[in-house]
Amino acid sequence: MIEIKDLHKSYKMGSNSLHVLKGINFSAKAGELVAIMGSSGSGKSTLLNILGMLDEADSGEYTLDGVPIRDLSETKAAQYRNKFLGFVFQSFNLINYKSAMENVALPLYYQRVARKERQEKALNYLERVGLKEWAEHLPNELSGGQKQRVAIARAMAAEPKVLLADEPTGALDSKTSYEVMDLIQKINDEGNTILVVTHEEDIAHMCKRIVHLRDGVIVEDKKVEQVRASEYVQ
Ligand code: ADP
Ligand code: MG
Repeated sequence: MIEIKDLHKSYKMGSNSLHVLKGINFSAKAGELVAIMGSSGSGKSTLLNILGMLDEADSGEYTLDGVPIRDLSETKAAQYRNKFLGFVFQSFNLINYKSAMENVALPLYYQRVARKERQEKALNYLERVGLKEWAEHLPNELSGGQKQRVAIARAMAAEPKVLLADEPTGALDSKTSYEVMDLIQKINDEGNTILVVTHEEDIAHMCKRIVHLRDGVIVEDKKVEQVRASEYVQ
């Protein structure tokens, strides 16, 4: 599903350059649930943003679902991004003046899905994340955990091949974090490929594999016995 070879990325700042990714090799098959760990500044978000086609590497190869991702026009990149990828961020990134349902329906609008079908699908995904009753509410009327579940519903509504989550529980307390991980595990149980950036050990162990980044390289890549989040939510 995802294959990257010898990926490098530097940030240029004036005459200085910060080499952040120094030859990353990584692959993930369909249906995997991978945690990407590493201390702050180790390049986790940089890697995820490249995988998510929000940013480009300086060199190396990236193949997503058999498609080589390189030198794409803005339009083509946007098309692939909408078709292949769903995003979840620490800060939820919901649109404040739109209801939960409108937020979930938004990616479908960009896919030119007709209005009625958009609303039906959005409601269906809200129901799947347990928030059907909250469809008409605005984000500021929802708790942090509910906001993140709306964000997950929005990401899934476009039926992406890969869900990329950058510290999805970073702004949530433990109990709420486990509820969000429970949802992520259920989505993965249905066969979806998911990458979760986290620096929390307990969250990483709710994935099936942990990849450790340090100083721009992968220093460890191991399978783990998955802890089910449902054991921690009543
Ligand atoms: P992490 O997500 O692991 O905390 P990041 O990928 O966000 O790490 O950042 C890795 C390093 O790159 C950090 O030192 C950060 O300050 C730097 N960095 C990130 N984004 C940029 C940018 N757009 N311009 C310059 N430096 C950046
Ligand atoms: Mg980060």
